[in-house]
Amino acid sequence: MGSPVDDAAISVSGLVKRYGSTTAVHGLDLIVEPGTVFALLGPNGAGKTTTVETCEGFIKPDEGTVRVLGLDPVADGPKLRPLIGVMPQGGGAYPGVRADEMLRLVASCAANPLDPRWLLDVLGLTGAARTPYKRLSGGQQQRLSLACAIIGRPKLVFLDEPTAGLDPQAQHLVWELVNALRADGVTVLLTTHRMEEAEQLADQIAIIDRGRLVTQGSPAELTAIDPEADSQQLRFRSNPKLDLELLAAALPEECKVEETVPGRYLVQGPITPQVLSAVTAWCAQHGVLAHELNVSRRTLEDVFLELTGRELRS
Ligand code: ATP
Repeated sequence: MGSPVDDAAISVSGLVKRYGSTTAVHGLDLIVEPGTVFALLGPNGAGKTTTVETCEGFIKPDEGTVRVLGLDPVADGPKLRPLIGVMPQGGGAYPGVRADEMLRLVASCAANPLDPRWLLDVLGLTGAARTPYKRLSGGQQQRLSLACAIIGRPKLVFLDEPTAGLDPQAQHLVWELVNALRADGVTVLLTTHRMEEAEQLADQIAIIDRGRLVTQGSPAELTAIDPEADSQQLRFRSNPKLDLELLAAALPEECKVEETVPGRYLVQGPITPQVLSAVTAWCAQHGVLAHELNVSRRTLEDVFLELTGRELRS
């Protein structure tokens, strides 16, 4: 367990949070550098929301230390709150309030807020400005919640599953906004179980599972395969339980083949054009359709799978 780092935007050290017999977070260490976008990626129940809500000061840790902008989120809550923006999972607003009223109300609590009209426009909500919260679509509620999180020009924003349930266009707006926040020097901690979202947005990704850190790094670091290594990798998906003895027999001896989880295959060894051709020829001979075939690049899903033995998508 490391000691808290004071110049980090967020420093979590040895965090433990239990709910009865469930340990939601199990000794987590995280450092989020200022001005970066940091993604907590993990399956349902991994402990992402618990970690974020601890950083927001809503949950008191059972063990460990949390510092946000150098402050203790619980003890220094009143000092910290004006500096952070929070977009909780599932929004949460008085059902009768209109979108623009809600945003103006939140803006009135901030010393130097953004212009609510401009923000509604950026988030594609101008047409829904006079609509009561309960009549907004799920995606509109989600975007309003994001607007409320950032209208006070916070130094640090927490976004819990910011694009859950959004259509691709709205998702794109949210991604653009996160990039704009980073360009303005705002630190963003977001949670997601969507790998492509973490890969697109984050400078650093911490993959967590069952309350523990599985691995951490930039998207490029996590998905890279050592180009100097003798052994390269070819991955593909197909039907489960292919006859791998037969497939291995069609490949050079140095190539090893395994089914990492049902329906996902990994060939390791010198992946030459001939090996690639031999794999696809073998598939053709056996009436097997290989898809998502790729060489020497792994996805975040592969990383999760190889480290935990389970799929990230639940
Ligand atoms: P999701 O993606 O589904 O939101 P998550 O990664 O955010 O999941 P958490 O919500 O932090 O995970 O939950 C971690 C674990 O703690 C889960 O097993 C969850 O059931 C449990 N848990 C969370 N909050 C509570 C609570 N208030 N009472 C009891 N158990 C809880």
